[in-house]
Amino acid sequence: MPSYDFDLITIGAGSGGVAASRYAASHGARVAICEAGRVGGTCVLRGCVPKKIFMFGAQFADAFADAAGYGWQLPQPTFELSRLTAAKNVETDRLEVIYRKLLADAGVQLLEGHAQLLDPHTVLVNGERLSAQRLLIATGSSPNHPALPGVELAVTSNEMLELTALPPRLLVLGSGYIAAEFAGIYRGFGSAVAMAYRADLPLRGFDADLRRRLATAMADRGVGLHHGFQPQRLERAGGDIICHGADGRQLRADLVLNAMGRSPNTAHMGLEQAGVALQAGSGAVRVDAYSRSSVPSIFAVGDVTDRLNLTPVAIAEGRAFVDSEFGGTPRAIDHQTVASAVFSQPPLASIGLSEERALAQGHRVTVFEADFRPMKNVLARRAERSYMKLVVDAASDKVLGLHMIGADAPEIVQSLAVAVTMGASKRDFDATMAVHPTAAEEFLLMRKPRR
Ligand code: NDP
Repeated sequence: MPSYDFDLITIGAGSGGVAASRYAASHGARVAICEAGRVGGTCVLRGCVPKKIFMFGAQFADAFADAAGYGWQLPQPTFELSRLTAAKNVETDRLEVIYRKLLADAGVQLLEGHAQLLDPHTVLVNGERLSAQRLLIATGSSPNHPALPGVELAVTSNEMLELTALPPRLLVLGSGYIAAEFAGIYRGFGSAVAMAYRADLPLRGFDADLRRRLATAMADRGVGLHHGFQPQRLERAGGDIICHGADGRQLRADLVLNAMGRSPNTAHMGLEQAGVALQAGSGAVRVDAYSRSSVPSIFAVGDVTDRLNLTPVAIAEGRAFVDSEFGGTPRAIDHQTVASAVFSQPPLASIGLSEERALAQGHRVTVFEADFRPMKNVLARRAERSYMKLVVDAASDKVLGLHMIGADAPEIVQSLAVAVTMGASKRDFDATMAVHPTAAEEFLLMRKPRR
């Protein structure tokens, strides 16, 4: 048996890599983790956490507007993005220190530098060759730059989280998670925001009823929506950037956000030389259900595998890898029933099948809906409504999909995700006593199917 410097070397100290490394060390493995940038990864430093801080900041606009209906008289509030960005940076710095401490406390050795694979067991970091019985690739993803002349004039979500001055006019290209979230955030801050996307509705893949209602709500909040827009090129014109669409439409802005997807980070690290097969097109590491690559000693988890690009999924894949390889209990992750949320304004969240997907899979479905103006919006004179939907298998009564758009949707769907993951039936929802008065109780009070 050859001797190695480590039992595991992880490349990438983001959510998946850190979770797997710490967990492997807790099994007694000798673990090192390589990181070329800051410790914490996209979620902590450039994604979920700072995005949500910005979202909280943006939501004060609603709170100030609604307060008058509840008797509050406020002076005209003003907003300074530079103050929020500075406060956000203090928080992400604090979290990076915590991440470093978590690794140190777990006995995981942090190697700060770019890692290059030399063979299936060896990496080169800062000029030093280090070997391990197993290598784990957890390098995540970065914003895509589609082949679009002038795309370099656009910024990405990374820069949107570092701005210190509000763009008067922001144009968002794309309508996925990142596009919808930043459009809502910057609209809340006070920018004039437009979102241009090639589909008919934002958020391809989500239930059509949520997509329609999100488009309506965003438009009502003043976001200019340009559907069926295929960007063709960007050009600078004085202080403006003009985005030309394939159909001749021209959209002008001070700042353009390229939110047209993300790509796995697999370049310039010797993966192919080490024999690791990548997916054609995306360049993601090809893995099986146990996160095994085409090379027996090399594994990969998280966005770099382009399976379901969500932080909790990366963490779960990392822990399953450790159970399989260091815990003696082979375990695969079920990517079918995973809840996710879009922190748009209003937010939305889903678990399970959309109505369209359930029908496409051959289910005969019964659909239950609730569409109501939340109590808080009445005195606030806010017209925005909340919407909830259950997609139920007519034959078995099992809840196949649960969807919501409206205030607190991510929190409500997270709690109900337990029931849906356990295979709850509509009868189980009916038999659950409501907590009153809440919005969440509406999921339990849907008596008559809509179709
Ligand atoms: P998404 O895949 O969600 O959206 C990409 C968007 O870009 C879509 O609107 C897509 O259009 C559009 N697009 C892609 N290529 C082109 C092109 N060549 N021309 C025009 N439009 C294009 O990616 P995001 O970057 O928003 O997010 C990446 C991933 O990160 C998400 O899938 C999600 O898993 C994760 N994420 C999760 C968050 C959360 O949990 N809240 C928040 C942010 C990110 P079309 O739909 O027509 O293909």
